[in-house]
Amino acid sequence: MTGGYSIISFTITENLNNGKMKINTMDKKVFLGLGSNSGKKIENIDKACLLLGNFFKVESKSSYYQTEPIGMTEQDSFINMVLSGTTDQEPFLLLKSLKKLEVEMGRKETYRWGPRMIDLDILFYSSMNFSDKILTLPHPEVLNRRFVLEPLFEIAGNLQIGEKKSLFYYLNHTLEQACEKIS
Ligand code: ADP
Ligand code: MG
Repeated sequence: MTGGYSIISFTITENLNNGKMKINTMDKKVFLGLGSNSGKKIENIDKACLLLGNFFKVESKSSYYQTEPIGMTEQDSFINMVLSGTTDQEPFLLLKSLKKLEVEMGRKETYRWGPRMIDLDILFYSSMNFSDKILTLPHPEVLNRRFVLEPLFEIAGNLQIGEKKSLFYYLNHTLEQACEKIS
């Protein structure tokens, strides 16, 4: 749980270019979203959790959630989970590490929203609010995806997000999306 932790209404003033951002990273809470919809999905997620321990200190882990695919609906269902923790890597470096890990684990390029053995997203990096061609924080889909909101609610129920500042509010607007807690 994050106590009264808030993630809203903060604009980065530091220079984010070239990953040369000067921030004190280790006291920043970071939330990651993990997903898999091909191969042994839970094993893929467990392996990713283990390997990302090289650059990310995990503090909380949600359950696994089984989710129907969004966009390309004829593909296999997803397993998703969310974890929170800290890292000494600034956001661009963290994204690079996550992308590298996806490739190391064998993720192949497919089409947008296509099947993937592992997808690693940065949902929140502390209260950072930022967007460029490479990185958007918070992740632009957080508020619309039940498979992100459900596990977030589980591990950080009073997280304040979006204009409404309520996870519960956004969760209530995504209940038509099939998403089942499996363990
Ligand atoms: P998806 O949107 O389904 O996660 P990808 O994993 O292929 O698709 O990501 C596409 C691109 O999204 C990445 O190459 C990355 O640069 C960009 N991106 C922007 N913001 C984020 C973020 N917060 N977390 C992860 N990727 C991000
Ligand atoms: Mg991704």
